[in-house]
Amino acid sequence: MPVEKVETLIIGGGQAGIAMSEQLSKRGVSHLVIERNRIAERWRSERWDSLVANGPAWHDRFPNKTFDKCDPGAFAPAGQIVDYLVEYAQQVKAPIRCGVEVTALYKKGDSFIAETSQGVIEASNVVAATGPFQKPIIPTVVPEEAGIMQIHSAAYRNPGQLPEGAVLVVGAGSSGVQIADELRRAGRKVYLSVGPHDRPPRKYRGHDFVWWLGVLGLWNAKAVEPSMAHVTIAVSGAEGGHTIDFRNLAASGITLVGRGETFKDGAMHFASDLAKNIAEGDANYLSMLDAADAYIAREGLDLPEEPEARKLAPAPRCVTDPLLQLNLADAGVTSIIWATGYALDFGWVKVDAFDDKGNPLHQRGVSVVPGLYFLGLAWLSRRASPFIWGVWHDADYLAEQIAARG
Ligand SMILES: Cc1cc2nc3c(=O)[nH]c(=O)nc-3n(C[C@H](O)[C@H](O)[C@H](O)COP(=O)(O)OP(=O)(O)OC[C@H]3O[C@@H](n4cnc5c(N)ncnc54)[C@H](O)[C@@H]3O)c2cc1C
Repeated sequence: MPVEKVETLIIGGGQAGIAMSEQLSKRGVSHLVIERNRIAERWRSERWDSLVANGPAWHDRFPNKTFDKCDPGAFAPAGQIVDYLVEYAQQVKAPIRCGVEVTALYKKGDSFIAETSQGVIEASNVVAATGPFQKPIIPTVVPEEAGIMQIHSAAYRNPGQLPEGAVLVVGAGSSGVQIADELRRAGRKVYLSVGPHDRPPRKYRGHDFVWWLGVLGLWNAKAVEPSMAHVTIAVSGAEGGHTIDFRNLAASGITLVGRGETFKDGAMHFASDLAKNIAEGDANYLSMLDAADAYIAREGLDLPEEPEARKLAPAPRCVTDPLLQLNLADAGVTSIIWATGYALDFGWVKVDAFDDKGNPLHQRGVSVVPGLYFLGLAWLSRRASPFIWGVWHDADYLAEQIAARG
């Protein structure tokens, strides 16, 4: 079989792959982007139907193309983000070949060999831009024999997909809280298992929290603090965007429970950490208000005061007197949605560039194997790394490194 040769191969046609293509083109580095499905496939078919961006349209965009498909302050539906990314790929003339999957990547001499669903490609450089969220994680807690429908949030589409009955949503990051709220609005009884989380204010003193992250220098924060390593962020652009306050979710009828731990004799058992998780989330929320207030004072800004933002309602009954176990059949729970996050899955990269947990060994995306690069991963170089807004910084840096290799 003939081997196709390219200088640089980018694997993945999401926002990272497109950003990488733009930066290589700017430097005259010839390249090819391979995407197994369609451009921006995660936004098309790997999230729920009503997904909107977590950030407002004025912010979630590339530097040289405004997002004009909706009001700048609105949270764009996923379909508009797909259109934006497709148009951006056209604008930068990204050479993307869709419908081709890289099934294995290995080294041969100084080159890389990519085995794909449509032949073999040899490349001097490879950028893996296959996303920060690769493999859905479902903890092995509830056995199949329990007869409960169990899906990951990546497979959730809409309430109609679930059997009649109550739903247990495990995980209260952005996906879990949005899915729980959608199910409750559709008339379902919902139990939401809440672990440690951050919950920034959606808006404070006239500005969205993405604006605050910018002026406070937090988008460019270089490393995840150890205390944040296992903390998820509960933020939402759904229903026009609002701060996630678990008291409001409880007041709307959702029953909050602690971290899901074990399943025994038909019952889910939850940790007694709910009040602590809520309190720590509140502390995170208030710390963001403090940082914003201090910034306003320091810079002498004239922004409207918002004292009511600090008034938190008393903890609801489900927090002060939490359920520690729930017999699923008795509670009418017929499905569980595991909004428990994703792992990396670089099993197809047969190159010695990973630690024993399968995490890439790299500095700012430059791997320990010369010529191999990673882009789009969480905290690759900064907090903004996996977002449309931030990925181009890293693409710019990697293109510089690739161009310098010659
Ligand atoms: C609720 C929610 C809200 C979000 N809101 C925002 C937001 O407002 N703004 C924002 O910037 N981000 C947001 N995100 C995050 C966003 O979904 C991801 O960060 C983004 O998709 C990452 O882009 P990427 O290009 O790095 O990776 P991906 O979008 O995952 O793209 C990787 C591509 O690689 C392809 N691929 C994978 N493996 C192979 C292979 N072996 N061969 C060929 N192709 C392959 C995949 O098909 C995919 O298209 C949100 C996520 C969620 C869950």
